[in-house]
Amino acid sequence: MEQQQHYDYIIIGGGAAGLTSALYAARSGLKTLVFEEALAGGQAQNILELENYPALFPPLKGSEFSAQMENQAKSFGAEIRQNTVQSLKKTGDDFSVTTGAGVCIAPAVLLASGASPRHLGVPGETEFAGRGVSYCATCDGPFFRKKRVAVIGGGNSACDEALYLAALTENVTIIHRKNSFRAAKSSADRALNHPNITVQFDAIVTAIQGGAKVESLTLENRKTGGKTLFPVDGVFIFIGQNPRTELLAGIHDRGRAAEIDNAGYIVTGENMETSVPGLYCAGDVRAKSLRQVITAASDGAIAAHSAGNYIRELRGHVYR
Ligand code: NDP
Repeated sequence: MEQQQHYDYIIIGGGAAGLTSALYAARSGLKTLVFEEALAGGQAQNILELENYPALFPPLKGSEFSAQMENQAKSFGAEIRQNTVQSLKKTGDDFSVTTGAGVCIAPAVLLASGASPRHLGVPGETEFAGRGVSYCATCDGPFFRKKRVAVIGGGNSACDEALYLAALTENVTIIHRKNSFRAAKSSADRALNHPNITVQFDAIVTAIQGGAKVESLTLENRKTGGKTLFPVDGVFIFIGQNPRTELLAGIHDRGRAAEIDNAGYIVTGENMETSVPGLYCAGDVRAKSLRQVITAASDGAIAAHSAGNYIRELRGHVYR
């Protein structure tokens, strides 16, 4: 039979929430394991310059910030593994976390699995993914140097990513379904005033066309209903995120499942506890009003503290 490995605290997701929690937990003496399926840092990896994190001034690149978080957590003894978690189950007081490399057991688990990009759901989007359709400007932008690109969305991500692309090409068009941006004023103003960025408000994409690669978008004007063909080489879609809650399917405690809100985000108390004892949640997958690196880090720190208290109570060592 496959050997099971035991930890105090297992963290699923190595973004800002997960790595901060790992740092706090390991530093407080908990045997801590982080599973991250891609690069440590999560979405922070895609940040061009992290300019709204206190004391990081001048700003750090997202990739540098991510590497620092990873190294800091490791320096206190946290173990970080690059594995996809396949299932999460609770039996008695223990959680079992299964990956392709085996099963790990712990009394406390943090779900810091983040969110994945929302899709437009229009014809051509899936067909041209990786052939002109992208959800990450930092990853794919350099392929579109001096080419025509469209950015879809009106939030912080759309404006920030359009600015990133505007350093690579003079031909960036933001296409937004409303007549004003939802993004913070500073980002919105920078995008609106950038010489390489034009904006089409009140427009939606109804189809993506091309041959071997993307060649055009069909746009519909929401006021007139008129349709136009808009030639592009690439389209970057930033229309929000879907919380990654799929691992909750296997979690029940005495018939009770973890609570989620109407938008699909996990509901916690202020100590990051979910409705399943021992299961904590932090970062973008949690129901909350502000999704930022700093709020993810805050969630992670609180979750580690709460998990530590929970484990001590479970083991009969209460000293508070
Ligand atoms: P948001 O949910 O903030 O914005 C999504 C945008 O996409 C909205 O403008 C929305 O339009 C539009 N949209 C949604 N669905 C569709 C659709 N089907 N078709 C066309 N347009 C659509 O998502 P973001 O990814 O921008 O940001 C997520 C979170 O991360 C936010 O909390 C944001 O503040 C944060 N963030 C912060 C950054 C920073 O501080 N520098 C950088 C990046 C993200 P509408 O406005 O009409 O609803």
